[in-house]
Amino acid sequence: MKLRNYDVVIVGAGVFGIWSASKLHNAGKRVAVVDFGGPAHVLASSGGESRVTRCSYGEDETYTEWAFRSISDWQAISAKTTTPIFHQVGVLRLHKENDESIKASKRLLAQYDIPFTTLSPSKLRDQFPVMQVRDDEAGFFEPQGGALMAKRSVQLLAANLAESGVTFLSGLVSPISIQQGHQGVLPSVETVDGQQLKAEQFVFACGPWLDQVCPDAMSGRLFITRQEVFFFATDVDTAGALPVWSDLPFYGFPSFEGRGFKVANDTHGHFINPDTEDRNASKKGEADARAYLHNRFPEFADAPLSETRVCQYENSSDGHFLMDRHPGFENVWLVGCGSGHGFKHGPAVGDHVLNLINRTSEPQEPFLLGSKGLQQDRIVL
Ligand SMILES: Cc1cc2nc3c(=O)[nH]c(=O)nc-3n(C[C@H](O)[C@H](O)[C@H](O)COP(=O)(O)OP(=O)(O)OC[C@H]3O[C@@H](n4cnc5c(N)ncnc54)[C@H](O)[C@@H]3O)c2cc1C
Repeated sequence: MKLRNYDVVIVGAGVFGIWSASKLHNAGKRVAVVDFGGPAHVLASSGGESRVTRCSYGEDETYTEWAFRSISDWQAISAKTTTPIFHQVGVLRLHKENDESIKASKRLLAQYDIPFTTLSPSKLRDQFPVMQVRDDEAGFFEPQGGALMAKRSVQLLAANLAESGVTFLSGLVSPISIQQGHQGVLPSVETVDGQQLKAEQFVFACGPWLDQVCPDAMSGRLFITRQEVFFFATDVDTAGALPVWSDLPFYGFPSFEGRGFKVANDTHGHFINPDTEDRNASKKGEADARAYLHNRFPEFADAPLSETRVCQYENSSDGHFLMDRHPGFENVWLVGCGSGHGFKHGPAVGDHVLNLINRTSEPQEPFLLGSKGLQQDRIVL
């Protein structure tokens, strides 16, 4: 068995693992990242084309501040590549007049000096003629938001880190159990093909597999839901004509890089196993997306379906992330439960993991394992 020795081993090369690796590496740690499928692979929650980044989170200061702080990191890595990984085209939230969460977002964004504008129905119609808008609706626009190119950004960051000395290993890490500890410390992890990785600290950023790898801690606390995404080949070039938009439960993207007009439904689907789920989108999902388009973007309702994708959200009971010490090991950190909104926060999550490992922050609410219940009751916007 090969034995390797690091300051920190990160299990999982999704957006949480990669940004944690980046922040730890920049702080001078010897870091290894191990993943069974590689960065943002096809089954991972960080795979796929694009993710929304926005700062409006109602009254939630932490996510507002983290999303805002993360923007400069995303811009910095986007600037390193000729095909941008951050399309900063703004995010438009369509809402009913007097929406309380939008009012709260306006208060908080103003407090943090984060720019936004509001759009009346007539302004929305003038600016975005493909959009059908009712008189009792309004728009809330964040110009600094936009689309993060998901898979490409994680893979780019991984390639940059590999070049600058972070070790990337391929392997499936075997589940850990409390019996493996020596006085509350996990000495090493093993992959099923016989690699042994020794480190001072371990970060398990395993996305929808976190409960399989850390069953003692996670059992029953991860709610993995099926989510479908549809791309339509519209005859209008939506890139440049539309921002990223959110019209819950639907949200979507103009056609970036010629991919098609993307529409997804944020409603949680049924519970799945990420290893065995059928990855073909359903006829019902397509019909729901077309019915939505019929009302909001009628010109696109009959556009050919060009591509689909089935992914998963790895939800906590309340929708808050998990960033806490493993209850059995003082050197093991559980980082996950992105709950369908984690991607944009990758850089801030990485900062938080660095602070936890350096002991400059203590694990805190709302990210504690103890606050994760056995029943889903989402409170995060
Ligand atoms: C359809 C969809 C739309 C979304 N939209 C948005 C959005 O608009 N905005 C937003 O901010 N967020 C969004 N999210 C959420 C966001 O993408 C996720 O929260 C985030 O990608 C989770 O990243 P992760 O690193 O925790 O998990 P993952 O990306 O799944 O990474 C976990 C990694 O761990 C590895 N791993 C697991 N177990 C092992 C093991 N035993 N050994 C080795 N490796 C292992 C896996 O191979 C995987 O690569 C969306 C998610 C989906 C699915």
